[in-house]
Amino acid sequence: MTKDERLQWFEATLEQAGLRRTLPRRVLLRLLAASETPLSAQDIYEQTGSDINLVTIYRTLNELTRLELLIRTEFGEGFYRYEPAPGPSDTAHHHHLVCDSCGSIADFEGCMVEEMLTQTVLPNNFQVASHTLTLHGTCERCQTQPSSK
Ligand SMILES: [Zn+2]
Ligand SMILES: [Zn+2]
Ligand SMILES: [Zn+2]
Repeated sequence: MTKDERLQWFEATLEQAGLRRTLPRRVLLRLLAASETPLSAQDIYEQTGSDINLVTIYRTLNELTRLELLIRTEFGEGFYRYEPAPGPSDTAHHHHLVCDSCGSIADFEGCMVEEMLTQTVLPNNFQVASHTLTLHGTCERCQTQPSSK
């Protein structure tokens, strides 16, 4: 999905849910659609120049997550980061690579977990509904700049 298609999908979903395109909703969706990496509420607050208060940002993020326009992930930092969901026709999900040196978060497509699950019987006949997978390590840039730690 291109950024424009994504924004159209966002707007259509808000309309279907009977939600007006308020300024916070528009700004947050635009910011997240344009971002390369998942953003926290604090990141959004800073990037909007404090125009929208944090309480509104949290409330709007929760609402957009409920509408399944955003997905949220906790990277062991004690708060959620948000990014646009893959899209209505796209059931593919992705996982993340977190660099422990610079904190950068990159997406990676493809999923080894699903394949593993088809070959594994879990204890107590456990039925899996979803999963998360985050790989920690060192990004390429940090590997070539060991002194920048
Ligand atoms: Zn790094
Ligand atoms: Zn991602
Ligand atoms: Zn997966």
